[in-house]
Amino acid sequence: MSVVTSVSPQAPDDVVVEVPETSVADVLKAAEAARAAQREWWRAPAPARAAALGAAAAALRARADEAATLVIREVGKPRVEAVGEVGRAVAILEYYAQAAYAPLGATLPASLPGLLFTERRPHGVAGLVTPWNFPLAIPLWKAAPALAAGNAVLLKPSPDATASALWLADLLAGVLPADLFRVLPGGADTGTAICDAADVVSFTGSVGVGGQVVARAAQRGVHVQAEMGGQNAAIVLHDADPGVAAAQIAGAAMGFAGQKCTATRRVVVVGGEQRAAAVIEALVAAVRGLQPGDPSQAGVLVGPVIAPAARSKVLDATAAVTAAGGRVLAGGTSVDRDGWFVTPTLLDGIAADHPVATTETFGPMAVVQRAADVAEAVALAEGVDFGLVTSVHGRDMGEILEVVRGVQTGMVKVNAPTTGVDFWAPFGGERDSSYGQREQGLAALDFYSSVRTITLSPHP
Ligand code: NAD
Repeated sequence: MSVVTSVSPQAPDDVVVEVPETSVADVLKAAEAARAAQREWWRAPAPARAAALGAAAAALRARADEAATLVIREVGKPRVEAVGEVGRAVAILEYYAQAAYAPLGATLPASLPGLLFTERRPHGVAGLVTPWNFPLAIPLWKAAPALAAGNAVLLKPSPDATASALWLADLLAGVLPADLFRVLPGGADTGTAICDAADVVSFTGSVGVGGQVVARAAQRGVHVQAEMGGQNAAIVLHDADPGVAAAQIAGAAMGFAGQKCTATRRVVVVGGEQRAAAVIEALVAAVRGLQPGDPSQAGVLVGPVIAPAARSKVLDATAAVTAAGGRVLAGGTSVDRDGWFVTPTLLDGIAADHPVATTETFGPMAVVQRAADVAEAVALAEGVDFGLVTSVHGRDMGEILEVVRGVQTGMVKVNAPTTGVDFWAPFGGERDSSYGQREQGLAALDFYSSVRTITLSPHP
């Protein structure tokens, strides 16, 4: 029997959890039990569902320190961000507890005597497949709306976030009916089995795996959404204060060692060489100010990357840029200490179509690009297959609007970092970044429901 092992990236000898992988037969058993539990859950009145989700929020709030400590240990998330993630997870549960009371549909003009109305109903069992970088928030921003809409949940966490997910399952077992929310540890085979057994599928992770999950679910005709990677640009206009823009961009590129789908991967500087030099100087200073350290220590903003392979990708990309005649402006080295640490890396001088500029490296790394004017900056920002988020920094409202209108990304941030998500607003991207309906906010209730239309006429 294969096992799932999760180790601490800052102390790889520290095995956080080791558990058996869930077999296909056990996934099927869990799906059957979840289906039975879901029927009861949906039959229960809305206040009962709201109360259970509210109790889940209270339970998480009561154990928030424990949750943050586990997240820091398991994925190396800096303390300030881990505490923030737990707070957000509590708020997500509170928000969707109230969403259990949301309208189920609309009444329309009827062509016959009587009523014509729509009604949202749960799909049944939601199959959720999640990455490791938000070990509590991502599972909950999928599970909470799925449950609020009346579904049961089978969650396949990333192997690297197994302990956090099992901790969450234990917490929720105290407040939700048995078998309604199950965490099934495992790798690709368990994930595939869950997707095959579910009535609706939501995936977050890399673009390669997301494509497979979408194709498989679509073949079965079940609703599917996938949130995948990004190669997000920050555009610095000619009138942005270099220090202010650099501080936001460095944080968005390197915070949590750049391990967010919304991290800034490219910095597009508008203006001539002199302007580029001023912005680069500020960026280099801001990036060098973010030296990696022990993520459990207050004040540390950059911890390790999740695994040796992730560190190699940053070092390999740095080598590829140098080989192509580019420059390393900052970082590009591993750190001589236990754990998978790499210095925040800023690269310059590669062609816009170089793979380092166009493909996602999930680590603390960004590339500087130059544009003569706003139109060229928009073209550069859009010149990749991803379309998750763009930030634009500056004052001239005409130029800002030219960027806002010109880019096709699912989210645009003006004078704000590419990172940071408001869970009550729709979240998602275009092209390779996302497939299907948006996540979060009230949009999520629609995804986890199907709408039927009912005609109600009196007996003639
Ligand atoms: P990953 O694609 O390697 O894994 C994601 C999940 O899919 C894991 O649980 C994994 O075990 C599972 N999986 C792997 N193969 C599978 C298969 N064939 N069928 C079903 N499930 C399978 O991603 P990761 O390394 O855990 O996370 C990093 C990636 O996630 C990055 O690309 C990042 O951009 C992306 N991400 C996107 C968002 C977003 O909302 N857009 C948010 C966070 C992370």
